[in-house]
Amino acid sequence: MDVALTLDVEGDFGTRDLRGVDEVLPRLLDALDERGVRATLFVVGEVARARPAAIREAARRGHAVASHSMTHPALSRSAPAVRRAELRDSRAALEDITGAPCEGFRAPYFDLPRDLGPLLEEAGYRWSSSKAPFSPVAGYRHLRATGAPHELAGSAVREFPVPRMLGLPIPEGLSYRRLFSPIARWAGAPRVFYLHPYELLDRVEGFALPRWMRPFVTAGQGRVAEETLWRAIDGWRSAGARFVTLSAGAS
Ligand SMILES: [Zn+2]
Repeated sequence: MDVALTLDVEGDFGTRDLRGVDEVLPRLLDALDERGVRATLFVVGEVARARPAAIREAARRGHAVASHSMTHPALSRSAPAVRRAELRDSRAALEDITGAPCEGFRAPYFDLPRDLGPLLEEAGYRWSSSKAPFSPVAGYRHLRATGAPHELAGSAVREFPVPRMLGLPIPEGLSYRRLFSPIARWAGAPRVFYLHPYELLDRVEGFALPRWMRPFVTAGQGRVAEETLWRAIDGWRSAGARFVTLSAGAS
């Protein structure tokens, strides 16, 4: 079983604070190195511009660096020109910083406009991991498309959806594993798993996501999140999982 561990590298809890990048990402990368795990980082372009050394270091250690847009907007609510600029500018920023091609993309909030495939293709991307069973913006719009990898409509862009946990309409992410911890322990290794470094922070300072999300997003953050993460990764490893980065050629 191939598992793609993916990190969404963005401001803390919807703000522009970067304690997650400054305080958590370095020790997360050290802990992944110790386990020989290579991850895929979806990095917001303006975060990469603010912390180029951290992103360059992740790439140097063999982690894949892909785009999570330039400023993390909800793309379905953005004007066409904004969508194009978000895709183009973030790719240019990341390629500039890492010196390597940036071919992958994850839509902020798992919120994708219907024309994401053609837009990605036009901007030079070849793969995506933008669909999840539930999105705070798109709701359950992609619930039926969270199984096997497939091509995004109208394009040759390969999509690797975040799968459902235990077949339920719950995305395979650290925040949901924490929330649903009694049942999550029965879930096996997912093809794609996601987390945010800021989930491992031990306290919340600013919070700029929709207010209803706060109790869900902050439940069991910090130490509980960290323990949940390593228990899951070590469990998948001992069950024979192979940790792989995402790319256009992945199966
Ligand atoms: Zn995000």
